[in-house]
Amino acid sequence: MTTFTIEKTDAPTAPERRAELLANPSFGRVFTDHMAIIRYNEADGWHDAKVTARRPLSIDPASTVLHYGQEIFEGMKAYRGEDGHIASFRPQANAARFAASAQRMGMAVLPENLFLQAVDELVKIDQDWVPSGEGQSLYLRPFMISNEVFLGVKPATEYLFIVIACPVGAYFGSGCVSVWVSENYTRAAIGGTGEAKCGGNYAGSLVAQAESKAQGCDQVLFLDARERRFVEEMGGMNVMFVRNDGKIVTPPLGGTILRGITRDSLIKLAAAEGVEVVEEQIEIDELFEGAASGKYVEAFACGTAAVLSPIGSLRRPAGEAKFGDGTTPGPVSLRLKKVLTDLQGGRTNDAFNWVH
Ligand code: PMP
Repeated sequence: MTTFTIEKTDAPTAPERRAELLANPSFGRVFTDHMAIIRYNEADGWHDAKVTARRPLSIDPASTVLHYGQEIFEGMKAYRGEDGHIASFRPQANAARFAASAQRMGMAVLPENLFLQAVDELVKIDQDWVPSGEGQSLYLRPFMISNEVFLGVKPATEYLFIVIACPVGAYFGSGCVSVWVSENYTRAAIGGTGEAKCGGNYAGSLVAQAESKAQGCDQVLFLDARERRFVEEMGGMNVMFVRNDGKIVTPPLGGTILRGITRDSLIKLAAAEGVEVVEEQIEIDELFEGAASGKYVEAFACGTAAVLSPIGSLRRPAGEAKFGDGTTPGPVSLRLKKVLTDLQGGRTNDAFNWVH
């Protein structure tokens, strides 16, 4: 165990103000009082681990992250159970994915136990910020930037790892989301960085997200970069479809989509419920035809932020595909969402040992 220096803020948020903020947290705009931070350089390795007051960083204008974008992050949540206990969900999986992202981006790899300890230390000091309302949680954002003062394209020798946190409510409102199929832009190519959780992947997806919004949709769905023929994933979520044979189908992990932890959890939880999830390529044309013919009866997005969000319709320039009546979440989606959220909220037996 590394010893973290604990420096409590001398200007904590007043309890009444915190209660006000927790009563109705939106997503990603309210932050807790502290952050965890660990530094890396080649001479000292990982050092100077501390939990300290959340405050702006001072960064040299030649810091490499500002020019070459060596940045990775994670997204995970801590939940307050009915008995008041706080638990996170599969944090080891986030630590492992973070290490894989670092490797792909040529960054220093943070030992997984240090990642986990930093997250735990922050949750401990900011435990009063974990909300208890339905659908609410403390969203944790571990991230790492390269921080060498140098202009030149090469992996940096200095890094900053930080964890910040924000109390959150639902990412989407209730009901179904509508999704725009991006034909103009793709997200990731074979051999690229699609499987890494790096900021650049998101920067590259924003114009497609803006296009989706201009089309009146909530989210964007990306197709494969080579042929624009197969479904890949959404801007910040994986995607699954329920067929009328009772099976669920989702695109396979081929290096271009993120290895979603919610995706993996749902595959295992569905199996335990007797529902098979088939990982296979889904042709976008076949999906539109199948939605019309009744072969595909439900669709949903899944991810830490989105949890499980039913998709009512997909739209593209050539038309629309509706699942069910296009506005009412289907029974398989609702059932799986309940199974997942009951587990995360500590309301059911943790058969997979995922709750930390
Ligand atoms: N795909 C992308 C592109 C994402 O950003 C996310 C959110 N991390 C996901 C899928 C879902 O991953 P997870 O279930 O681990 O949150």
